[in-house]
Amino acid sequence: MEADKNFFDAVIVGGGPAGLSAAIYAARAKYRVLVVEKAEIGGQITITSEVVNYPGVEHASGRSLTAVMRKQALNFGAEFLSAEVTGFTCDGDIKTVRTSRGEFRTLGIIIATGANPRRIGFAGEQEFQGRGVAYCATCDGEFFTGKEVLVIGGGFAAVEESIFLTKYASHVTIAVRKNEFSCAKTVSDQLNDCDKITVLFNTEVTEVSGEGLLDRAVLRDAKTGETREFRAQDGGNFGVFVFAGYVPNTAWLPPEIARDEAGYVITDANHKTSVDGVYAAGDLCVKNLRQVVTAVADGAIAATSLEKVAEELHRKYDLPDLTRFNENAPAPKDHGSAAPKPEAPAQEEEEAAAAPGELLTPQIKAQLAGVFGKLTAPVTVRLFRNDSALSQSMEAFLEELKGVSENVKTEIAAGAPPEGLMLPSFEIAGEHSPASNIHFHGVPGGHELNSFVIAIYNAGSSGQAVDEDTRAAVRAVDHPVNIRVFVSLSCTMCPETVMSAQRAATLNSNITAEMFDLAHFPDLRAKYSVMSVPCTIITGKDGELKPVFGKKNLAEIAAILKTA
Ligand SMILES: Cc1cc2nc3c(=O)[nH]c(=O)nc-3n(C[C@H](O)[C@H](O)[C@H](O)COP(=O)(O)OP(=O)(O)OC[C@H]3O[C@@H](n4cnc5c(N)ncnc54)[C@H](O)[C@@H]3O)c2cc1C
Repeated sequence: MEADKNFFDAVIVGGGPAGLSAAIYAARAKYRVLVVEKAEIGGQITITSEVVNYPGVEHASGRSLTAVMRKQALNFGAEFLSAEVTGFTCDGDIKTVRTSRGEFRTLGIIIATGANPRRIGFAGEQEFQGRGVAYCATCDGEFFTGKEVLVIGGGFAAVEESIFLTKYASHVTIAVRKNEFSCAKTVSDQLNDCDKITVLFNTEVTEVSGEGLLDRAVLRDAKTGETREFRAQDGGNFGVFVFAGYVPNTAWLPPEIARDEAGYVITDANHKTSVDGVYAAGDLCVKNLRQVVTAVADGAIAATSLEKVAEELHRKYDLPDLTRFNENAPAPKDHGSAAPKPEAPAQEEEEAAAAPGELLTPQIKAQLAGVFGKLTAPVTVRLFRNDSALSQSMEAFLEELKGVSENVKTEIAAGAPPEGLMLPSFEIAGEHSPASNIHFHGVPGGHELNSFVIAIYNAGSSGQAVDEDTRAAVRAVDHPVNIRVFVSLSCTMCPETVMSAQRAATLNSNITAEMFDLAHFPDLRAKYSVMSVPCTIITGKDGELKPVFGKKNLAEIAAILKTA
């Protein structure tokens, strides 16, 4: 059997704690491992600033904890790819994994795609998403500074996130459907010290409404059925944060993978699924406790079980050591395009720090040089200035970027900005973005460093792989369309939407893509009543479409473009 650079011992789908743990174990056993992650390495836990229950780590942010896991996996030679897995074959010893960046052959697969927040389905939930209804306290909490917040849920996340929300909100009310919390008492006891939190047991939210923004909710007593109105003390708008469990990320799986009625993957004690050679780990499995500690345990068990299969198949087909195709060995580097996160403390501890006031550490610059080294044509990052403080920060960032790679030129725009362009703005211009149709209105710090780097990569190369249907749908746009994505730099869901908009812009010069850091554009926030990010505004031939909230991949953006 022919082996090549796209042949792996294990492909791990999802780079959360379960996937990273599986990667550490399988790579350490000297198998060739590819971790495919569609959004941010680290998974759900990256949106939490406080993890205090992972044994051996007294206190860490979710991002720093998983940044160390990623580094451990890299050190053992695991390879990383920033792409979405769309499916895989189930028959035969050798499986083919389909991703948005091509196909890979593998002896085994570990599915570790976790879960997404569950929508409850109360009246107005969908209508007010982004206008008051939110699912991520880290991403959207600050939009409710000085306002009241109603939290729905009675589990671990509801308690933890309510406490977090008191940093911003004037008061937090938790509506718990049952007559007690479903998390450990030690967790809910933390609420005793919070005088800004009120708990309403036996309470369901049945409806939310308002004029533009949400300013009214209807609460129902779960025992008596009686309803009453909930309004903020000041009579103004307030937020509703939903922490009501999760839906497993398993809808994309082939039907051969057995699941329970709620969609969770059924595995045996070795974490093998109903298909030979395919394992599952983490929150998407049928299990009683969904936490980092159980996710990493699952990942370790799945990897060590898969190792036995890989060993057998190596013997059966007389396969060579596949790690020889790993261009990253023996000093592995991340060959995916996910850029390192500058603010991950675990990395900062060990790496040379950035100069005061700077974003890019020497190590990040070295990694950026690696990604930019793959460009096939030069890209120019051009700053259109104005007299704002933001413009000065962007100029400082441009200075940091200068000289990182000869493929990326930096300059201050000499001429007038393109008509209608909001300032300040970075323009990213390259062979595949000839109409300079990608703009960043903000310093690409936090999570947006990723989308900035990918924008440069797509502008100066044939770019990230896109499936044929999506490419055709994007290319079918035959009139000018502008996509504006409003983000906050702490939002983990935002970069995917920004990257999708920008990828569309590099595939079709009729499309312009702009990223706005909303912290610096309060007028836009007010104009569109944005209370949640990412928020996407698409303007086409018939004017502006209704704002769309939540993360969007390229296929989803392409579907919306059909109506623009
Ligand atoms: C707000 C909040 C607070 C929490 N606090 C704690 C805590 O304090 N302690 C604790 O132990 N646990 C906590 N948890 C739970 C913990 O985050 C999860 O149990 C854990 O992240 C599960 O890990 P996982 O790897 O199974 O899945 P996830 O973390 O969900 O990771 C799955 C990954 O797969 C990726 N993915 C999905 N589909 C695809 C695809 N098709 N292709 C490629 N990639 C894909 C996703 O982008 C994601 O990165 C918290 C969870 C939340 C939401």
